Amino acid sequence: MVIAIDIGGTFVKIGLVNNAEIIVKTAIKSHPKIVFQNTIKDIEVTINNLLKSHSVAQRDIEGIGIGFPGLVDSIKMKVLSTNKKYDDSLAFNFIDWAKETYNTSVFLENDARMALLGEWQYGAGKGIDNIAMLTFGTGVGSATIINGKLLIGKHFQAGNLGGHFTINVNGALCTCGNLGCVEAEASTWKLGELLKADPRYTDSLIEGNELDFESLFKYAEEGGELSLSVRNHCLEVWSAGVINQIHAYDPELIILGGGVMKSADVIIPFIKNNVKKHAWTPWGDIKIIQSKIPNRSALLGAYYLVTKNLKN
Ligand SMILES: [Zn+2]
Repeated sequence: MVIAIDIGGTFVKIGLVNNAEIIVKTAIKSHPKIVFQNTIKDIEVTINNLLKSHSVAQRDIEGIGIGFPGLVDSIKMKVLSTNKKYDDSLAFNFIDWAKETYNTSVFLENDARMALLGEWQYGAGKGIDNIAMLTFGTGVGSATIINGKLLIGKHFQAGNLGGHFTINVNGALCTCGNLGCVEAEASTWKLGELLKADPRYTDSLIEGNELDFESLFKYAEEGGELSLSVRNHCLEVWSAGVINQIHAYDPELIILGGGVMKSADVIIPFIKNNVKKHAWTPWGDIKIIQSKIPNRSALLGAYYLVTKNLKN
């Protein structure tokens, strides 16, 4: 049995996985101040409950796989850099924690990479060995597989910073320090600013509603002029983000994930059209599809990472 954990900024998903099947999974709310020391305590309580309710003994735990929203050293199992989430995790010793709490090994990886591993082995990327994935949500995450291997790089950040490729040199300052990043131009954290910066904006536009992409796409569909123009701006930004991935990594397949993909029926055709027009792929058309197992990819990716590493 593998304990799979996907740590997000809002929720932490925890599952028990055996033979690539999620036996049980649950989600807990992240600690309000996104403090890691507190979140890990909540994670422990949840794991203990799952183990108990499924009669799993400690000796049956093969290992723990953890997806983390930041840059991760996947050899020393350490968090290298955070982006305003779980900043105290930099000092956390994952190896000691797993050993002392569950007498087992732990494997840590960036959350977007975990999701891509899951999609590659069990979802949208099955059988394809050159894939770039982008996840559109609160921020924009990315990961890359080239020739059947996760792209890592010298400092563990290769393929991981697709959300921080510059797409507007006159653009806004991003949380990462760069200007005009994909996520600084179009992501959930940016959406309120984009709407409010438009002279057509009135409070009644969003009165009583969440300022999220699901509502934005709905208003745009209903003919809201401002919603439509902000939506199209975001679609252009994401298209540029995808084209950057294609030009950087030469993938056969682009997988798009994240909460924003609830509107995949609008997003995918728009991006495909832009890619057809602007991407340099003399070999043919690249496949662009949405993630197939969005709620399970990171947990199954964690399972895959643990079992693969234990085998080696
Ligand atoms: Zn950035």
